[in-house]
Amino acid sequence: MSDNVESELGVEEAEAFRARCRAFLEEHATGISVEGPDPRSEKEIAANKAFQQKVAAAGLAGIIYPAEYGGAGLTKAHERIWREEYGKVPDMTAQLTISHGMCMPMLAEYGSHEQKSQFLADCIAARTVWCQMFSEPGAGSDVASLQTKATLDGDEWTINGQKVWTTLAHVCDYGIIIARTDVEQVKHRGISMFIVDMKAPGVEIRAINQIDGGKHFNEIFFTDVRIPKSWQVGPLNEGWRLATAMLMYERVAIGTGSKSGVSTPTYKYLAGEATRRGVITDPVVRQDLMRLYTEETTKSLVAMRTRAELKSGKTPGPGGSLGKLHTAVIAKLARRITLGIAGPAGVAWEEGVGDGDKHARSVLRSFSATIAGGTDEIQKNIIGDRVLGLPRDIATDIDVPFKDLRVGTQKSAG
Ligand SMILES: Cc1cc2nc3c(=O)[nH]c(=O)nc-3n(C[C@H](O)[C@H](O)[C@H](O)COP(=O)(O)OP(=O)(O)OC[C@H]3O[C@@H](n4cnc5c(N)ncnc54)[C@H](O)[C@@H]3O)c2cc1C
Repeated sequence: MSDNVESELGVEEAEAFRARCRAFLEEHATGISVEGPDPRSEKEIAANKAFQQKVAAAGLAGIIYPAEYGGAGLTKAHERIWREEYGKVPDMTAQLTISHGMCMPMLAEYGSHEQKSQFLADCIAARTVWCQMFSEPGAGSDVASLQTKATLDGDEWTINGQKVWTTLAHVCDYGIIIARTDVEQVKHRGISMFIVDMKAPGVEIRAINQIDGGKHFNEIFFTDVRIPKSWQVGPLNEGWRLATAMLMYERVAIGTGSKSGVSTPTYKYLAGEATRRGVITDPVVRQDLMRLYTEETTKSLVAMRTRAELKSGKTPGPGGSLGKLHTAVIAKLARRITLGIAGPAGVAWEEGVGDGDKHARSVLRSFSATIAGGTDEIQKNIIGDRVLGLPRDIATDIDVPFKDLRVGTQKSAG
């Protein structure tokens, strides 16, 4: 793997940059201890931001982005070295996945020069954190049914509507939203993408209480929220094309993470737990652990292929769905193993006693992996249509102007 970067950069430059990354990570990537019911606590987010700000100060953040936008202005080979070294240390930026894995590449690829100058450097250094506002009540898998509207009024857009399941909205500074800008057009057209200030008047963020005790995602209500005209991202009414690109970045971010190389973190953790609990010799546990090891290894290899495609200049394609689906397969398998080795502690716990809560909460959380970022069924549809070339799902509403459709929450409006 390293041969490639060495032939691209020269042995001396590659080794010097690797040593620089390693020295930084040895000093700063010391791990974050997560306590309490929600691993996405404000404490963890603050720690992620603090770490990323050090990465930026060391000139190692936003490696491939131009220096004029706050990046390091280096090459994809440098980025690969950083990912390889980062893969060897505890993840310190897990809560920046949406901000960095999805919003940042969208701004860099589709943002105007003005937008990049205003927002990119702060996003790269995590001085600001960003969220993604696509899903609505009644528009999840079929997100093109969205009803939130943006209306142009002089030099400003006015946004009205509702989004839901918005991860980390309550701690974010900005978000990327898609909204309907022309109801005369068919549902996949007449949508545009915008930047929203999450602290603007008219943005109301309400926490959703989760079954595992956490509160990391939200519903958001927009009432006459005004944003500058210049915060429209990409061409008017072409938001669906941009949304699709962002969903591909999302699947790559979930499916490949911010690290590179083969890693088996869930296997290592659960094998350790099985050893600690004296069940590592149980043949069923061993068989499941080996399946988990195989799945995680395969996922890493698929992720490396996806990264190689990105490196060769391709926008992520439907192959990103393979990694996303793999993440869900691993979550389901890990749930079964956890329940097997933790026994009753995998389903119930007494607050503050032992580590039962850790297992039970991870079991409860595992279900979200099959939904967040697009459900398993949707990933299988994408892989079927666009990777395997199977016939597409039958759709009867794609040629009808949006104003003539009954979609989303209109269906249940009577
Ligand atoms: C932890 C978590 C974090 C999230 N974070 C965000 C976020 O930050 N921003 C954001 O915008 N959204 C977010 N979401 C929302 C997520 O994208 C949606 O929940 C998801 O796309 C599914 O939409 P839905 O919940 O409306 O379910 P629905 O679309 O109503 O689906 C219900 C069921 O029907 C199935 N189904 C639907 N259509 C088809 C079809 N064509 N073929 C086969 N089966 C189908 C689905 O697979 C599912 O089983 C998050 C969700 C979770 C769980």
